[in-house]
Amino acid sequence: MEKIITRFPPSPTGYLHVGGARTAIFNWLYARHMEGKFVLRIEDTDIKRSTQASVDAIFEALQWLGIDWDDGPYFQTQRFDIYRDYIQKLVDSGHAYYCTCSPEQIDAMRQAAMAGGGKPRYDGSCREKALGKSEDAVVRFKAPLSGTTVVEDVIKGNIVFQNDELDDFVVCRSDGTPTYNFVVVIDDITMDINTIIRGDDHVMNTPKQILLYRALGSPLPTFGHVPMVLGNDRARLSKRHGAMSVTAYRDMGYLPEAVLNYLVRLGWSHGDQEFFTRDELIKVFDIAHIGRSAGIFDIEKLQAINADHIQAAAPSDLVGPLKPFLKERGIEIESGDYATNVIETLQPRSKTLADMADAAMFYYLEDIEFEEKAARKFLKSAALEPLQLLAAKLKAATDYSQENLEDVFKSVMDETGLKLGKIAQPVRVALTGKTASPGIFEIIAILGPERVIPRLGKAIRFIEDRMAELS
Ligand code: GLU
Repeated sequence: MEKIITRFPPSPTGYLHVGGARTAIFNWLYARHMEGKFVLRIEDTDIKRSTQASVDAIFEALQWLGIDWDDGPYFQTQRFDIYRDYIQKLVDSGHAYYCTCSPEQIDAMRQAAMAGGGKPRYDGSCREKALGKSEDAVVRFKAPLSGTTVVEDVIKGNIVFQNDELDDFVVCRSDGTPTYNFVVVIDDITMDINTIIRGDDHVMNTPKQILLYRALGSPLPTFGHVPMVLGNDRARLSKRHGAMSVTAYRDMGYLPEAVLNYLVRLGWSHGDQEFFTRDELIKVFDIAHIGRSAGIFDIEKLQAINADHIQAAAPSDLVGPLKPFLKERGIEIESGDYATNVIETLQPRSKTLADMADAAMFYYLEDIEFEEKAARKFLKSAALEPLQLLAAKLKAATDYSQENLEDVFKSVMDETGLKLGKIAQPVRVALTGKTASPGIFEIIAILGPERVIPRLGKAIRFIEDRMAELS
């Protein structure tokens, strides 16, 4: 079988948005699944709107997602010689011609066509004139005047276009620059692309592109047009539906595996499985199961998948991704057992890395501030005795294993006649400042005596001061 060669050809006129990323992912996954090749091409011929910052942002987003390419990046602006040769080929073979109609003439033709109830179009004035190259001439493709062009779309099925609706479109402007549909085809032919999966906003271009393939005698690639990504109100995804750029999700604390997983599922299915690792996706991804209906972007689902990926990750793999989030909060962490132990306790309770960083603060802060409400409720006189007893016992203890900590708590319960909850909550506030945290034994074991004893001491002093004020 022929080696599958796919491509992703973004226009660098902004960041990589989630819809574009999904198209990239589909092409990349299919190439990886088929052990084919994935080509990256930057479609920067719109010089006014293309920027280096966008190129950099697209690379950054692809790299973050873990989408690697085997060939490229190609830049269309570096390929003008190739396009020029192909324009000449089309003219020489009689598939294209020079046209010198002025903009005013073209405008009049369009008006006339519309007045006759038709679509605005070029009327073919120069088609048979066999004009030569001249300064103000454009090159037009000689499109068939009748019949149909069928896009055999592997996702949407056959889409039939009437040729008399496709006019003799311009392939090269009078300033010598080639037009969009033309360069796409030349690139896809010269890069040996045989599978094109793209957004269905391009489907109107495909019949024109097919005509160009035929005129050049090149075999057609497989086309598949994927439905757009929509917002939850079914409008085309835009800023008001939330962040649009892929890297914004990175900055909010999403894992690349989760974004990858979510975007693939937004338009493709494998039974009702929701959770996929990258390797699983490569193993099972196919074009046949790309859906025909639009994907609705749902941030809550993305969050749920992110939580699943956080939970499934090896704690040591999360240290690096978590670092910048803690840094933002003024905390520098190092890789090692302490960090991985901390992360392990937070994995089941974090939807994003930002959540995890918030929840990890107490493990790292030198000095714990008690939340006012928590302190008022739990750091009061009734907690003094159990906290003092526990502090004394933990100071004497050398073994901070789960079992031993349980025994220590049990002895405090026995001596005070209090239930575990009555002891654990004040301890939690003492150690974390808050009323919610991972399991009390877990956090004591991780914090260790060097952090636990001073924090209990601070809570004890807090209660004593409060009692003194009240008396
Ligand atoms: N450059 C186009 C875009 O960014 C993609 C064109 C194509 O896939 O053929 O939407």
